[in-house]
Parts: sequence; C-alpha cells; structure tokens
Amino acid sequence: MNKKKNNYIKNTVKGPVSIISLNRPDYSNAQNGAMTYQLDDAFRQAMDDDNVKVIILKGEGKHFCAGHDIGTPDRDLDKSYEIKSMWYDHTKKEGGEFYYAREQEIYLGMCRRWRDIPKPTIAMVHGACIAAGLALAWVCDLIIASEDSFYSDPTLKMGLPGIEYFGHPFELNPRIAKEFLFLGEKISAKRAYEMGMLNKVVPLRELEKETMEIANKIAEIPSLALTLTKQSINHIQDLQGHRSGMDATFGYHHFAHTHNDLVQGEYLSGFDAKKLKEKSEDQDKKKS
Ligand code: ZN
Repeated sequence: MNKKKNNYIKNTVKGPVSIISLNRPDYSNAQNGAMTYQLDDAFRQAMDDDNVKVIILKGEGKHFCAGHDIGTPDRDLDKSYEIKSMWYDHTKKEGGEFYYAREQEIYLGMCRRWRDIPKPTIAMVHGACIAAGLALAWVCDLIIASEDSFYSDPTLKMGLPGIEYFGHPFELNPRIAKEFLFLGEKISAKRAYEMGMLNKVVPLRELEKETMEIANKIAEIPSLALTLTKQSINHIQDLQGHRSGMDATFGYHHFAHTHNDLVQGEYLSGFDAKKLKEKSEDQDKKKS
C-alpha cells in the first residue's frame, strides 16, 4: 500500500532557534506513535545542528496539545517503529506487556530523553494543554504561555493515576497536585503561573514574539554553560526523587491499565475507544 507519509511535526530554524511544531491541528495535536517518533527525530536534528542554540516546542492550530491519541483514525497502537531506547518492540506481546513495553519507550523513555536534551528548550503553550500535552510542556526548561491557555490531567476519569510522565508533584505544590488530579478540572494560565508551573504569561498575540525574544537572549549565553546548568538542575531534581518517583508511579500506572483490562476488557476504564474511533471516522468522512 502506497500510503502518503503524514508530517506530524514541522521543523524550522530561525537564526539560532529551532522551532518544532506539533502538526495535527485537526485533532488538537493529539500524539500518536508516528508523531512521537517524528518529534524525537526533530529534536535529534536540532541536536545535530551546531547553529541551533535553543529549541522552541509549539502546537499548530488552536491548541498546544490535547494529549495522547486515544481515538482518532490514525491511532497507531499496534504499529512498530524503529525503537529509540533499549526496549523491545511491543506489537507482538500480549496482555499488560504490550502496553508496558510501548509506554516505557514512547511515553516515559522519550519524555525523559527530551527533558535531558543538552540544549535549552522552551515550550510555547496556547489553548489546551491536556494530559500528555502536559508532559511535552513539562519536559521543556521554560514554559511561556498565552493568557488563554489551560491545563488539566483528566486521566483519573479513565481509571489511571495520572499520565505516565508523573511530573505533577514537582510542577505543582503537592497538595495542589492532588486537587489537580482528583478533580481533573482545567486550571487557567493565571493559576498555573501562580503555582510556578509557567515562567511567563502573555496575551496570545504576543506569545510568539515574546518567546522568540527570550530564546534569542538565551542563545547569546555560552552554550556549554547553559548545558551544564541544565544538567545540574535536572540532576538535583533527580536526587530529589524526580526519576525514582516516576519509576514507582509508572508501575502503579501499569497496574491500573492491567486492572482496567481485567475488569472490563479495555485498558482505559469507563472509556469506549471503539465508539470514539467511529465518531472521528464519521467526522473525517464529513470533512472530505
Ligand atoms: Zn498509560
């Protein structure tokens, strides 16, 4: 079958700044496997280009990112990609191992790689930043957001204890992290800023200009000093439990997936993925 390759990621370079865009605006930039691997390639390119000093990650269309793809026609859970970590391919595995191997590689492993990219990264967030969208913002060093942006992790409603990249207690005050997860409600950019999750909040029309200005200022600092500073802070966070805590919560997360599967034959609880898939296919047909 000669299927056209989708470009789920756009990558442009402006002076010393690489601008990487999530490019599935019709599905609010929901991350399927293909997008995740393309994003990894784009970060790799930015790494290999000596002229790139700073990386910006943004979303095309109305939103930054609505999370993992849990129901679009291009959802690709069963597809193999060239593995980037030392994990094995998940597609031929059964039961919990299927999800465990897949999520080790693309939801936890890749996010950790991106967090440790040795060049400064800035998430430029507007609109929705939901569930795994949070992981993409959190792995960046700075987050510059528009006033209209909003944040939520509603995964408890799907029977999960939060997303795979469990940064919540580090990104938010622990008590507020519990509120954020228990209620699964949206929080505004203003509140996220007050909690220290965002570096700066600006009107949407100024978001790009403001983010580029900050990126260009950082680009003037000696690169190695930036790299070593980033490594120092990430290392200290790891000593504070960022890495080991996430390993433990990843185990809880997969116990929940397996429990959901045992109880109702679907790894997300209370969630009819098949129905949602049919709905998106219907919408797709109407569009074409
Ligand atoms: Zn999961």
